[in-house]
Amino acid sequence: MIKFKRTLGHLNVKEYLKRLLNSETLPSSILFAGPEGVGKATCAFEFVKIYFCEGDEKPCEKCTYCLRMNHFNFPGFRLVLPADIEKKIVEEINSGSISPENLRGESFSRNSSIKIEQIRNLKEEIIYPPHERDRIFYLFLDADLMGRETQNAFLKTLEEPPPYITFILISSHPELVLPTIRSRTHKVIFSSLSFEDFSKYSFPKGYNIEYLYNLSAGSIGKAKSMISWNIEELKKKILQILVRGKNPYNILRGEITRDQLVLMCGIIQFMLKDLLYIKSGVQEGIVFQEMLPFYARYKDKLSRQEIEKRFYQILELEDAIKRRVNLSLIVLSLPKFAFV
Ligand SMILES: [Zn+2]
Repeated sequence: MIKFKRTLGHLNVKEYLKRLLNSETLPSSILFAGPEGVGKATCAFEFVKIYFCEGDEKPCEKCTYCLRMNHFNFPGFRLVLPADIEKKIVEEINSGSISPENLRGESFSRNSSIKIEQIRNLKEEIIYPPHERDRIFYLFLDADLMGRETQNAFLKTLEEPPPYITFILISSHPELVLPTIRSRTHKVIFSSLSFEDFSKYSFPKGYNIEYLYNLSAGSIGKAKSMISWNIEELKKKILQILVRGKNPYNILRGEITRDQLVLMCGIIQFMLKDLLYIKSGVQEGIVFQEMLPFYARYKDKLSRQEIEKRFYQILELEDAIKRRVNLSLIVLSLPKFAFV
């Protein structure tokens, strides 16, 4: 019997994967696509563990394969990580700070990439059939962190892989994966988590789960980043730019990452939404309750239409960030969302 115990929600995905696991053979490549931080990597890891598990209820967490998988110590499972952080992550694995529920660990960053040399090495590696069991899984974190040239190199491997290989490509930006690669993969599509599933995750104590859910759009990964980035600090920076008219470049000092900017956009969206609620005299549904005095002071500075316009513009900006438009341009465009 198969039970995905560590993957929250995603019932359809789990059913589909169970069918795959019960079938004669596995596809040579599977794309796990869907929003960031909803458990794609956790689910992929569990999928591989179930494949190798020899217990009755899979994963049993007791057999030698489950234990070795949990210690990242089974050669049938290999991680493909961006080159510049690979070493750090391997150190984290060795020190035990990376768990199967948090495969990316502390050092993971979307600012790094999987390099073409790694794909060349992988090509040489996969010539050798497995010593143990019948399959080797390669888990790409994340597939869209390969540049175009690297993806083209990988495509050749994908076209004629040895029969004992399965590539699992994780991506929250599948549009950045070449169509020629996408068309050769089995697709497993993840959606956002429901509040019920999201709240089952054990977040550190003291956080309002509903607030985290709204702000992260149901992404556990994003919510965890928010906790580590200090939302309050980001809010202060936003207010300095949008209310006090400070130069965004000086405030953000070029240190901000793409993911943090996406989060900033999310926070601005909630502030704008809150302002609309306040204008309509509605108190329920306000995300940043602690900002009520601020809202009271600024609610009449902008008309309803002006707030709505900013709301749609910020959605466009968020999209531009994801499309990898130059970050300086994005930062410099922030003042147009001013609340005053
Ligand atoms: Zn087992």
